[in-house]
Amino acid sequence: MSKTDWITQEIENLKTQGLYNRIRTIGSPQGAWLTVDGKRVLNFCSNNYLGLANHPQLVAAAKMAADEMGVGPAAVRSIAGTMTLHLELEKRLAAFKGVEAAITFQSGFAANLATVPALVGKEDVIFSDRLNHASIIDGCRLSGGKIIPYDHCDPASLEAVIKENLPQFRRAIIITDGVFSMDGDVAPLDKIYEVAKKYDILLMVDDAHGEGVLGKGGRGIVDHFGLHGKVDVEVGTLSKAFGVMGGVVAGNATIVEWLRQRGRPFLFSSAVTPPDAAACIAALDILEASTELVDSLWANVRYFKAEMKTLGFDTGVSATPITPIMLGEAPLAQQFSRDLFEAGVFAMAIGYPTVPQGKARIRVMISAAHEKEDLDKGLEAFARVGKKLGVIA
Ligand SMILES: *Cc1c(COP(=O)(O)O)cnc(C)c1O
Repeated sequence: MSKTDWITQEIENLKTQGLYNRIRTIGSPQGAWLTVDGKRVLNFCSNNYLGLANHPQLVAAAKMAADEMGVGPAAVRSIAGTMTLHLELEKRLAAFKGVEAAITFQSGFAANLATVPALVGKEDVIFSDRLNHASIIDGCRLSGGKIIPYDHCDPASLEAVIKENLPQFRRAIIITDGVFSMDGDVAPLDKIYEVAKKYDILLMVDDAHGEGVLGKGGRGIVDHFGLHGKVDVEVGTLSKAFGVMGGVVAGNATIVEWLRQRGRPFLFSSAVTPPDAAACIAALDILEASTELVDSLWANVRYFKAEMKTLGFDTGVSATPITPIMLGEAPLAQQFSRDLFEAGVFAMAIGYPTVPQGKARIRVMISAAHEKEDLDKGLEAFARVGKKLGVIA
């Protein structure tokens, strides 16, 4: 018996259940097409919504920043790691989103780990959508606050748990994803805001998949619902539509100032690099100059979803570029993904525990980087594999 036998056994279990994740390797820049494990394939997997991850303007900005400021911050933000580029990025993000202030982190994950524990303590309660992202859940657990889930995207359920529990606690916060990453549905933030207002509770939204996607020119879910100045904390990521790396908290200036004092990943983990920050600023230049990329993303989304429905696929409840193809059991989803890959299309199967048992799927991520002929090639492969595996007639 070795001390790690149990791990070997767990890994074997994952493999027999069809839940073992075989991680593929990318040998090219992000874009509509990728080299994956040495093979050229159509990319239906990335969060590169606007095609910015390999955009010449971002690449040039990163190179220039490396030449002028080097490649590493060599410190945490609160000691010697705050460079002019970080502050410029934060100012630009606040202006883009139309909020009082913004603070950046190393990732969206780090932003959630920083924010929830800074705002919530052991005496407090968190009302959390049942399907919130893992990084929100981890942030909530770290805070030590009582986590009370409410039914997914259900303001009536939210109000019911608030009524029942609020009096037992010192303070409260409501936290929801903006766009749910596995189903692509959008939180009813306008209705959630009404509840937050009625009970005078802080409201936090994690808009990782809405940043650069929802709202005017990609200004996010708060803009989408016209809730400017009403949502206290808006978490976002610079690693998805922005095409780079990093997280952001935008909103109330007092909260942002508090996070500079008490956000642990800000205090105890080094800043993002100068090329990262410069590339994010270049992304903002592009988003502020024109809505063209966001518009072509949505045109692609409408086309692809309509064609998939015509083919007879179940694309779930998505209202965003995230397009789940519901298949049911995990082994079928994995087989589907393998067959697509054979046909030159890279689309990942997602199963338990990322989604509930029996709700396995292929998740297609549409991008502005796709040309119509790319989407047509993808549709043709889906039709072929879907018929072969008996998913569509
Ligand atoms: C992807 C995602 C994150 C993590 O963002 P990173 O910048 O990749 O760390 C956080 N929250 C949600 C809802 C996400 O979808």
